[in-house]
Amino acid sequence: MSIFEKFSPYLERMSRAVQIGRSPIGIQFDDILSPTRGVIEGKEVIMIGTNNYLGLTFEESCVTAAKAAIDAHGTGTTGSRVANGNYVGHTKLERSLNKFMGMASTIVFSTGYQTNLAAISALVGPKDQVFIDADSHACIYDATRLSTGTTIRFRHNNAEDLDKRLSRSQNTDGARLVVVEGMYSMFGDLAPLDEMTEVAHRHGAMIYVDEAHSFGSFGPKGRGLSEAMGVLDKIDFYSATFSKSLASIGGFCSSKHPQFELLRVSRPYMFTASPSPSAIASAQAALEKIISEEGLHDNLWARARQLHEGLAQMGFDLAADASPIIAIRRHSEEQAVRDFNTLLDRGVYVNFSGPPATPAGISLLRLSVSAAHTEEEINKVLSVFQTLAQDNKVAMAAS
Ligand code: PMP
Repeated sequence: MSIFEKFSPYLERMSRAVQIGRSPIGIQFDDILSPTRGVIEGKEVIMIGTNNYLGLTFEESCVTAAKAAIDAHGTGTTGSRVANGNYVGHTKLERSLNKFMGMASTIVFSTGYQTNLAAISALVGPKDQVFIDADSHACIYDATRLSTGTTIRFRHNNAEDLDKRLSRSQNTDGARLVVVEGMYSMFGDLAPLDEMTEVAHRHGAMIYVDEAHSFGSFGPKGRGLSEAMGVLDKIDFYSATFSKSLASIGGFCSSKHPQFELLRVSRPYMFTASPSPSAIASAQAALEKIISEEGLHDNLWARARQLHEGLAQMGFDLAADASPIIAIRRHSEEQAVRDFNTLLDRGVYVNFSGPPATPAGISLLRLSVSAAHTEEEINKVLSVFQTLAQDNKVAMAAS
């Protein structure tokens, strides 16, 4: 049997998609004009599926800092911080994040994915238990595979179910860790962090929150949903990525426990190259912008509410309340791929999301709003969705 045989279900999905139109996986941008505008197939499109929540990818201070870092320290670090040494940029960024988050220890990792992989897999040892939300991101699931402990899943966003599972699985030999996210990446729904934290701590477990999508976009200072819900000081471990609000690549995990420094022995920290000087410098500049300009996310929220309200009025099946991620449920993968293509033909780039990224085999049109979107751009997006709603109505009437 061919070693590639296992990919045939994927191939079948792809061939069904290309019969409908372009495959939504791996769309090519010919050019990126701004945080909200790109060129696909020679045509300018509004991008509303980029996770560029604060719209800082073209921010002058970030671009200047990245260029200066290349001039000063070169294009890459060419190695791991353990084997090949730390650059001043990495240590400075760790100090700044630590202070901003009000934590005792912060470690910068090469990506957001590796942040969770490293921290969770190293924290959960052979005698330990890790409790994860069923809708956790792939990197949290992968971290549990790399860890040597026991993994227990609880129902999505269900503090009662977590409570039950913590009660049932007493662990006298080892430690217990609860892992949740802030804003969930597919539906844009929010974790009840106050309840989750209370339940975890009542059972003597520690709590780990991945705020990949909510760092920068929530909280008066931009410190995420934990800050917005007033529980930041109760979080044991807080992770986020540089690839969304910070408009770069890399990630960090902060902890109120100074012993977190020990996690520099984790494998995905030790055995991979550290982020390039330019990625670190632009993340540092973006962080400084978040620190110095409160209200950077005000327009993000205004545009998110505008979009959510408009789509709800058109009758689209929205997965959650208004937030910077707005997901529309479609009845089938074929329908979602068809809509994705229609929207692109009409100048709007959104994300198609399906399994394994989505839970329960659901197909979504996933939109992520940016603080850089203007009211006019959102109106344009809404007018294109209006034509899609009209097309769907006509198609349903004809069938
Ligand atoms: N956590 C969550 C919840 C995510 O959605 C993602 C990526 N979308 C990551 C972690 C990984 O981040 P990165 O892409 O920066 O590696």
